[in-house]
Amino acid sequence: MSISIKESMQKFAVQQALNYVEGNPEENIPKLMEMADKVMPDGYYEEVRAAFRKAIEEKSNWYQLMLKVYELDPGVRKAFFQNFLFNSAMKGTAIQHENAKKYNCNVPWAILLDPTSACNLQCTGCWAAEYGHQLNLSVETIDSIIRQGKELGTYMYIYTGGEPLVRKKDLIKICEMHPDCEFLSFTNGTLIDEEFCQEMLRVKNFVPAISLEGFEDANDGRRGQGVYAKVQNAMRLLKEHKLPFGVSTCYTSRNLDDVSSKRYFDLLVESGALFVWFFHYMPVGNSAATELLPSPEQREKMYHQIRSFRETHPIFTIDFQNDAEYVGGCIAGGRCYLHINAKGAVEPCVFVHYSNMNIHDVSLLDALRSPLFMAYHDNQPFNENMLQPCPMLENPERIRKMVKETGAVNTDYQDLESVDHLSDKCLPYAENWAPTAKRLWAESHPCANCGKCKE
Ligand code: SF4
Repeated sequence: MSISIKESMQKFAVQQALNYVEGNPEENIPKLMEMADKVMPDGYYEEVRAAFRKAIEEKSNWYQLMLKVYELDPGVRKAFFQNFLFNSAMKGTAIQHENAKKYNCNVPWAILLDPTSACNLQCTGCWAAEYGHQLNLSVETIDSIIRQGKELGTYMYIYTGGEPLVRKKDLIKICEMHPDCEFLSFTNGTLIDEEFCQEMLRVKNFVPAISLEGFEDANDGRRGQGVYAKVQNAMRLLKEHKLPFGVSTCYTSRNLDDVSSKRYFDLLVESGALFVWFFHYMPVGNSAATELLPSPEQREKMYHQIRSFRETHPIFTIDFQNDAEYVGGCIAGGRCYLHINAKGAVEPCVFVHYSNMNIHDVSLLDALRSPLFMAYHDNQPFNENMLQPCPMLENPERIRKMVKETGAVNTDYQDLESVDHLSDKCLPYAENWAPTAKRLWAESHPCANCGKCKE
């Protein structure tokens, strides 16, 4: 069967299933699951189906989350299913795999972009604090990246910054230019207003992830008086307009107790967020504050708390540094994603500011085949223990070696950091964390250290 016929049939089947659920989700989700179990061959997506079945039977927090998706604006939900589930996850993944094989390089599921280095806030310790300091990717450049990305099978685009919504009109224009892609934007949330909500409802394929670092004191202490109230207002507006949104939270030695608390998770669920994306503080840049790095005890606390709230709270939670086991290790270097900064430097990861290529000079495919990206491709995973996935944070000798061998240069906007400075700074953290990582990994994966069944 040709790919396009198979694709059309898959698309039709998915659409029929989704339309069926639309009418009465509470009644039809369980029925659809029963049908899926009858028609799917034994073993096909068995674990996923078992998880769904369990969620439905127990009416668990995951089931509550499914129902929350059905409270969203129907047009936005339809676009999300079409773009995220079908174009990105099903069709896109197949094309990515084909191209990865054909070109012998990584092909990403998502591309992260900084539309601008500018920001409207002046947060303590953030390089983007000077609003006048601006670098931008033009609409034409972003459009070209997306066109090239789609050829390779990439339908998911994520904005970082700077504050992407400083350019919200351009971002809406890009949503219109590529209605078959899903766009997610990290944002401080302060520029989300009634007019922007109406624009999101109109284009349907834009999802904000609002930065939150704990409760009011912690947020306003870092971001400025009144910012927390503005963020709450943005969430209220999004919820009222039935728009999907999430939260992004960076955990540090200072806010970890707050953001790993039940009170914080309750707040997120109450605000209407559908997902929360936790990031471990990364000591990137010459002036990084290493005292903000969580201690091993704190990181372990985060690990346990998030796993426990996944059983109770109707919110999809990602812990970027502790979840590598679900995605086979480091996802950077185009394995699942890459990052393009506002100058056009193509970087393996949003936290790894080294590159051989600029998107203004080369094609996306050439960037994926550049020396540093090929070093990622050839060396992943960087550690068998998935609680030590990073070539920088937990295995700093790996980033030192890759950068030196590939001749990649630092891409920081204003203060270039040598790879020796970065790696030396990460070493004590890596050494401190290793024993805890080893113990946690052995506890959760007893087979990894046993090997008896192979004897
Ligand atoms: S380079 Fe490090 S931070 Fe970036 S995706 Fe890989 S493991 Fe995560």
